[in-house]
Amino acid sequence: MGEVKKVRTVCRSCHGGCGVIAHVKDGKVIKVEGDPDSPISYGTLCSKGLAVTQLAYHPDRILHPMKKVEGTWERITWDEALDTIAGKFKKVINEYGPEYIVVGQGTGRDYESHLYRFANLLGTPNVLTAGHMCYVSRVASTLITCGNLPICDYRGNPKCIIMWGCNPQWSNPDEYKGVDFWKAYKKGARLICVDPREGFVAKKADLWLQLRPGTDAALAMGFHHVIIEEELYDKEFVDNYVHGWDAFKERVEEYPPERVEEITWVDRELIRKAARMYATTKPACIHWGVPTEQTINCADCTRIMTGLMAATGNLDAPGGNVLYVNPPTRTVAEFARHRDLSPQQRAKRLGGDQFKLGARVALINPKKAWDSILTGEPYRLKAGILCGTNPVITRANAREAYEALKRLEFLVVIDFFLTPTAELADIFLPAGTWLEQNHVADNWKRHGFVLARQKCVEVGEAWQDHKIFLELGKRMGQEWWDTVEDALDYLLEPTGLTWEEFKEKGYLRGEMVYRKYRERGFSTPTGKVELYSTVLEKWGYDPLPKYREIPESPVSRPDLAEKYPYILNAGLRTPTFFHSANRMIPWLREIRPDPIVEIHPDTAKKHGIREGDWVYIESPRGRIKERAKLNDGIDPRVVVAEHGWWYPEDKDPQHGWDVSNINILTDNAYETLDPAIGSTNLRVCLCTIYPCNEAS
Ligand code: SF4
Repeated sequence: MGEVKKVRTVCRSCHGGCGVIAHVKDGKVIKVEGDPDSPISYGTLCSKGLAVTQLAYHPDRILHPMKKVEGTWERITWDEALDTIAGKFKKVINEYGPEYIVVGQGTGRDYESHLYRFANLLGTPNVLTAGHMCYVSRVASTLITCGNLPICDYRGNPKCIIMWGCNPQWSNPDEYKGVDFWKAYKKGARLICVDPREGFVAKKADLWLQLRPGTDAALAMGFHHVIIEEELYDKEFVDNYVHGWDAFKERVEEYPPERVEEITWVDRELIRKAARMYATTKPACIHWGVPTEQTINCADCTRIMTGLMAATGNLDAPGGNVLYVNPPTRTVAEFARHRDLSPQQRAKRLGGDQFKLGARVALINPKKAWDSILTGEPYRLKAGILCGTNPVITRANAREAYEALKRLEFLVVIDFFLTPTAELADIFLPAGTWLEQNHVADNWKRHGFVLARQKCVEVGEAWQDHKIFLELGKRMGQEWWDTVEDALDYLLEPTGLTWEEFKEKGYLRGEMVYRKYRERGFSTPTGKVELYSTVLEKWGYDPLPKYREIPESPVSRPDLAEKYPYILNAGLRTPTFFHSANRMIPWLREIRPDPIVEIHPDTAKKHGIREGDWVYIESPRGRIKERAKLNDGIDPRVVVAEHGWWYPEDKDPQHGWDVSNINILTDNAYETLDPAIGSTNLRVCLCTIYPCNEAS
């Protein structure tokens, strides 16, 4: 029997990047534990991270490449798989052009730099990610407003925290772990929670603002109204570092707390109290996440909240929201060679003219891809390669996504399992988990750290995603390196470290400097925080932010609300799942065996629904079922449902993709999307509910 070797690495079962010590025996990881020396997670791990051994060694995991022959999967070699893909892609490029190939990813396994390099060197501008409605949309909107993404400075001891639609102890900590928030809270920070649902944070909060789902932008404008009216803003900062303050003030006048109460359902006095607490308790930070992005107000909501940080003098201030400096590795943009994509090819980006902010960060809206395949307008995509993404579960209007991917002439999927999306592919490539990956983790983030994720084991014939793009890229005649590790040496070169040296070190942190704007201004065209956006103005959008009514709500569609009287908040998260992942992991599924829809007890009673009943949720686009959980911490006019569900235990190739998939219910019509970045309104639509036994 071999010795147990402990390998220090970094988790990637979500965006988090928690430090891990993997116990390896006889070439197999037998358990993982939190790394107490991790500078960002301090030894903590969540249920998803702890369950990685059940992911890596799952009996259903596919550990060799496969091709589909007359509807059946057949095992093939890596050489055959890569030669087939390269041959097909070359044919498409020769006959039509590189833009006819779509390259896509989901939340990513830290391979963004490699995927984009592959796409750019291929010459396709059509990269399909979740970025239009998740994180990248926040980055893009803050880039044009203040030059970088402002992040809570928990180490700087905030005295007040607004937790805006997030629960970082439960799910997806983009830049910071729940543990950092918790430390600051335990030190006595005041806590304001903005959430339609009374969760863990709301229960701990000094003030809980239970808003109508999707109205965050109006609420944030209401905060500005109070802060301006009561002169609680930082005059020195505003006078010197804000562009367009007077015009912005004029826009804010449209949002007195009385009107904001009507829009958001939050009591006007509570709005005033929360705005005062945030503006007068220094320093204060706002912790935000995807809920404010997945609506028609995506970019403007981000800009309004950035405005709150700026107006109160908390932007780039200790304990406020800081613009961190990353260690000097090569950036994703540089590694990915964004500049190599020619202006001619950029001009062919699907939807590039419509969603200019999306185009600026090199992504397309999924509806544009589906329309291209289904209608041939403006041209018909011919082939695609999707890495670690399950769009038939995770993208709005899932039936359309399913139909489009089914019709794509040639599809490659890179993943761990045969997901409902992978089942539509022609070639399946087996990806390595984070235990099987050498990489400079978190290189794409903006929290000031890069972390060494080192390979602990190899499993079957699976390859880490980076190696797949590297080897496929070389077959396409692109410029890559011999090995993944050579590429990491290049990525790390400006730090003066090799991959081997970095691995020993464990992590690097960027320079920590506050209030950099005093020396260099902000990285925007005016050098100031642009509450009046010169960029959006140049592109023909409204330069001032505003609230747009949710396209499908009791306010905008009273006609529809007669049949569908409830607001569906489709964003309920759990600590066990990361979007559509993990439903096959026994430990996690034991904790959450079924999809849950939360219903207020009064609403449930009205429909004869009891705790634990299977319930149909129906919207104008279809119907699914989830299991009822009664919760008096939500408004009786709202139901809150889990997303990401499919049933891996169902061995039919469809794996029950349309049984409990919340995106059967959501919409992706163009008029419902954010006009600048194309964010999908994934969170809020109208629905009705009824017990399954009443259904036809
Ligand atoms: S929070 Fe994310 S990164 Fe951290 S242990 Fe959980 S899954 Fe892994």
